[in-house]
Amino acid sequence: MLVHVDDAKFLFCPLLMTHDDRMKMCQVTQCMMWRWVDREKGTGYCGMAGKPAGADA
Ligand code: SF4
Repeated sequence: MLVHVDDAKFLFCPLLMTHDDRMKMCQVTQCMMWRWVDREKGTGYCGMAGKPAGADA
């Protein structure tokens, strides 16, 4: 899923959990799996699920 960095931080990460088993939000650029598509437009995606449609645009 291609998203803007400002939106990604409000999406749950499928890997990160709190100490009481609640899902945590995406860490965006602080995570090694974040992939930029267009830095000027601020779009990218989580690389854990592969490259999404539109990522080459
Ligand atoms: S980019 Fe990192 S923190 Fe964000 S959803 Fe993917 S694995 Fe989780």
